Amino acid sequence: MLWAVHAGSIPIGRAVSVASLESRTQLPSFVAGRWQNGLRGFTELRSAIDGRVLGLASSSGLDFGEMAGYARSVGGPNLRGLTFLARAALLRQLATYLNERREPLYALSFETGATKRDHLIDIDGGIGTLFAYASRGRRELPDEKFVLDGAVESLSRGGTFVARHILTPLQGLALHIDAFNFPCWGMLEKLAPTFLAGVPAIVKPATSTSFLTHAMFALIMESGILPEGAFQLIMGGTGDLLDHLGGQDVISFTGSHATSLTLRNHPVVASEAVRFIAERDSLNAAILGPDAGPGTPEFDLFVEEVVREMTVKAGQKCTAIRRAIVPRAHHAALKEALVEKLRGIVVGNPRLESVQMGPLASLDQRTAVRASVAELQTEARLLFGDPNSWIVEGADYQAGAFLSPLLLGVEKGGPARKVHEVEAFGPVSSVLAYETLEDAIELAKRGSGSLVASIFTYDQDVADALVLGIGSYHGRILALDRDCARESTGHGSPLPPLVHGGPGRAGGGEELGGLRGVFHYLQRTAVQASPTRLTGLTKSWTAGARTSKKAQHPFRRFFEDLSIGESILTAARVVTLEDIEHFAEFTGDTFYAHMDEEAAKANPFFPGRVAHGYLLLSFAAGLFVDPAPGPVLANYGLENLRFVKPVVPGDAIRVRLTVKQKTPRQPEHGEVRWDVRIANQDDELVASYELLTLNARRPT
Ligand code: NAP
Repeated sequence: MLWAVHAGSIPIGRAVSVASLESRTQLPSFVAGRWQNGLRGFTELRSAIDGRVLGLASSSGLDFGEMAGYARSVGGPNLRGLTFLARAALLRQLATYLNERREPLYALSFETGATKRDHLIDIDGGIGTLFAYASRGRRELPDEKFVLDGAVESLSRGGTFVARHILTPLQGLALHIDAFNFPCWGMLEKLAPTFLAGVPAIVKPATSTSFLTHAMFALIMESGILPEGAFQLIMGGTGDLLDHLGGQDVISFTGSHATSLTLRNHPVVASEAVRFIAERDSLNAAILGPDAGPGTPEFDLFVEEVVREMTVKAGQKCTAIRRAIVPRAHHAALKEALVEKLRGIVVGNPRLESVQMGPLASLDQRTAVRASVAELQTEARLLFGDPNSWIVEGADYQAGAFLSPLLLGVEKGGPARKVHEVEAFGPVSSVLAYETLEDAIELAKRGSGSLVASIFTYDQDVADALVLGIGSYHGRILALDRDCARESTGHGSPLPPLVHGGPGRAGGGEELGGLRGVFHYLQRTAVQASPTRLTGLTKSWTAGARTSKKAQHPFRRFFEDLSIGESILTAARVVTLEDIEHFAEFTGDTFYAHMDEEAAKANPFFPGRVAHGYLLLSFAAGLFVDPAPGPVLANYGLENLRFVKPVVPGDAIRVRLTVKQKTPRQPEHGEVRWDVRIANQDDELVASYELLTLNARRPT
């Protein structure tokens, strides 16, 4: 295992094996471009398996003002100097680099209590998130330093005053405060969108498992891929860092309700309107539909999912199922099935292949979970497990942070309160019975806002009622049934393209969700100007802006040579009745509006027989295309197509083709977006759309 070990402020990057960590190595922070040790007040970082000390952490003596200043003055400009596409490319390089170095991280990850299956979520899942954002950035973001948001807004009758929203990177820093349960994924799922946005990050992992975060951070630094200042690390507390924040900064926090309140109410955070994204505790529900009785695939899936959520990461997942809400009629059978399945779970040393569930992350965590379970037991009966002892394989129950899976039963859903309020952040779940679907919805809502809920039903009416009933209380809903179970990613997995976050108690924040997660770190600005000025500013041709004409047809010019606003107006072509009939016969599209004068006239939109929309598109291509082989490699789609006015036999159409936008997606070719407008002999718009082509880059 490679650890970056450092003396004072000089980076050494010496390799240290996991075994030698018992020497109580201090794991330094990474501050203003150098590794730096804390001075006093060390926290011992302990193995979850046997409690031995792996290293020490302290941030005392760090200059947090310097960290903030360095992020703003070095990291920010370095990142903002790159385009979104350039940052996406670096993210991909970083993901590839880490992907090739997972093995040593796995070795260390066991010490957090994680099994092999858990590593896949934390380490592979984190790296996968980098890959996902890199490719989303490459596909969906521009080779510019801003992003366009929404369409051009017309603000005047004469068309000389228009507006568009743009997004630019905040010029501050992102402070990422992570929870202990995902030392790698927690860091990377926040880093990916922040980096893509162009904002430098300071990471503060939860101290107890920070030895693993530190190891991955050290790999990132060792790679040399990220620009200087893009990333700093705090091993220990945040000191007075919050005092140095301002209105261009973002805090992205994952952790408990209590800590999020402390941070949100910090005077600087409140008065400077520091953006605050909170992901906090969540009492997620799984609801079994009334139709999903014993013997149905949905019943079995429910049992499987609840047990998986209790045992993956020893239940230390913000998305884990805490409340299993089941119809009274199936209550007894369900409890029995869950208990039966839990009996088969082997708890123990996560290094052993036979072990399905490792220890909690720390002894403190076990104490906290036991206290929460004791509270729950004032209302609920223990159906399975023992909070105080258990048989564990290959380890000492007392020395490590082991705990058995604990299933509780709340016999009466109605008056119970704690089951909807107390989050036992471990392998703990409670079963509640409901009488009617409305009942089930009310019970789910008593969680006061959650990250995710799952519904298990094969009945569309039940699914409709549940999703609409609980939707606004949840950031994600998984509707699991026999048709999607095999390929389902499961209840507990936040995914890069989907929103991760929930309202109310869950923090009211959102992370991930594709580009939504990037936009948290960008400022949206409405820019009002003339069409020509807006075209210049947004690098996207705006209707009404000046156009230019070049000697050569645009299809003869390489990607680099095309300029925004470059335009051609084609010759006119008369559309005849014969054309319409020929097209109808040839394609088989003999819809009455093209073929039957009387029927067409009876239609409220047409004066009589009209040309096919597809015929117009084909004629348009025939008018503007330059046919010989050249830089245009392929047409790969149309967007925003509108047929505005019918074309009747005898009308003459012509086309204006204008270069609207260019994005160099690959080294060999780029995407050109063309504005296409088809007008009739009276210069009235009959159709408009955006055409996308792939154009060759000029050979170097
Ligand atoms: P926690 O005590 O709130 O700690 C979370 C993070 O906040 C840690 O990095 C912690 O650092 C830091 N922290 C604590 N006090 C701070 C302060 N005054 N100023 C700055 N940072 C501070 O939470 P936890 O109990 O360790 O974590 C478990 C909780 O996280 C559970 O409630 C769980 O539901 C929630 N969680 C939510 C999500 C989600 O996505 N919604 C994901 C995972 C976990 P230290 O470790 O140094 O104290």
